[in-house]
Amino acid sequence: MISTATARRIAGDVRSGKRTAREVVEESLARIEKYDGEIHAFVHVCSDEALARADGIDAAVARGETDGLLLGVPVAVKDNICTRNIPTTAASRILENYRPPYDAHVIERLLGEGAVIVGKTNQDEFGMGSTSQYTVYEATRNPWNSGRVPGGSSGGSAAAVAAGMVPIALGTDTGGSIRQPAAFCGVTGLKPTYGRVSRYGLIAFASSLDQIGPITADAPDAALALRVIAGRDERDSTSADKKVPAYDGKPVSGGSIEGLKIGLPLEYFPDNLDGEVAAAVRLGVSGLEKLGASVVEVSLPHTRYAIAAYYIIAPAEASSNLARYDGVHYGRRAESHDVRSLYVRSRSEGFGPEVQRRIMLGTFALSSGYYDAYYLKAQKVRTLVRRDFEKAFERCDLIVSPVAPGSAFPLGKWLDDPIRMYLGDVFTVPASLAGCPAVSVPCGMTGDGLPIGMQVIGPEFREGLVLGAAAAYQKATDHPAGIPSEIRKIESRSGANN
Ligand code: GLN
Repeated sequence: MISTATARRIAGDVRSGKRTAREVVEESLARIEKYDGEIHAFVHVCSDEALARADGIDAAVARGETDGLLLGVPVAVKDNICTRNIPTTAASRILENYRPPYDAHVIERLLGEGAVIVGKTNQDEFGMGSTSQYTVYEATRNPWNSGRVPGGSSGGSAAAVAAGMVPIALGTDTGGSIRQPAAFCGVTGLKPTYGRVSRYGLIAFASSLDQIGPITADAPDAALALRVIAGRDERDSTSADKKVPAYDGKPVSGGSIEGLKIGLPLEYFPDNLDGEVAAAVRLGVSGLEKLGASVVEVSLPHTRYAIAAYYIIAPAEASSNLARYDGVHYGRRAESHDVRSLYVRSRSEGFGPEVQRRIMLGTFALSSGYYDAYYLKAQKVRTLVRRDFEKAFERCDLIVSPVAPGSAFPLGKWLDDPIRMYLGDVFTVPASLAGCPAVSVPCGMTGDGLPIGMQVIGPEFREGLVLGAAAAYQKATDHPAGIPSEIRKIESRSGANN
């Protein structure tokens, strides 16, 4: 497990007066200072605001106000989530210098429970990508190997948690962007059910898929964070009016998973799956069996069409969501003498190549004459994928699969091959299309010392069960092994200097 204390522990210590929020926040900032010159997880660190807030919390604790679930807990926030007066750019040039006048719903909730925002994390621009290299900032490095990607698009958030800079980071997941970087960095990442968490204040990528969720060192911390951010919000009509359970990281009473039925989808273990990933996930499944779960085979036959459908639906929605950034209504304005070239230049200079590609794909798919052939067809496939899951969940409680077809790959790889890159989302996109909650849990390491993740998918609104199974598994196992090697290196260098 990662070196930092859990959020539960920190909140408990601050509540009881064992530690001050200032001490905790100073420690988090010191780690960022020490490691982030190499990892590049953060695009903005707000030390002054964080320390001032920590002092405010310590003063409140001294007055006996000790209610917050996340009292004094440092939290990192993906850069596409609005934070009042703190730069929020979605890693895009078009939003350079943007400081939102308001907080996203999830930020209000975190602050309401005593959390301290320490900074904003790197990502692929607007969430479009799987490596955190499509960013206006420096690419984030994987703390387990700085020559490898941390995954994406929430790569900065996953790397920040893996490096022990913060115990909780928020990410967003449209087609895998919480789960895949969590898997690549050896941390726990939950994509909640669509509608579980309000998207108010989230910079939209594909609105029918986007969800905000926690990335943490373990599943009970993810449960705690979810408890704080979940729930109905009038400002997001798609947020569900459903009671938020007191998620505690226990699937059923007593925390046992005895008797749970785990479905293994045949389609998720194809012949070309990386051998080490396949072996680690299968070992993970037998770990669950040892804890009393039983395994049944299930089928999700439309999985093979999911990528094609996703890469129509997500770009289509993105092309519409991103239309507002034209240098006039929103976004950085380019120099120009006439309106038409002002639009063209603002958008050409402001958006990176992958975002431009998605806008073109999406605009094409929605254009008259092609709408039925592409967008409508993709929506029909989405319904079939959803039904696959409904059927499978008649036979099992949870579904387990790999998160990604391989482990963290070298920086630069597949940047010139978008289709190959898109295919890497094959195991995460189906749950996104279906709206199901899914968590990535570390389940092993490659021979090269890179983490491997196992995906646990549940029926809608069964986050408690999903996280409970993940927590039971983590309690019985110890993945990933040790401290990330890049962090160890930095530590030993600084030890030698002292
Ligand atoms: N990698 C996927 C994409 O590029 C998923 C991104 C996400 O979930 N935000 O669209």
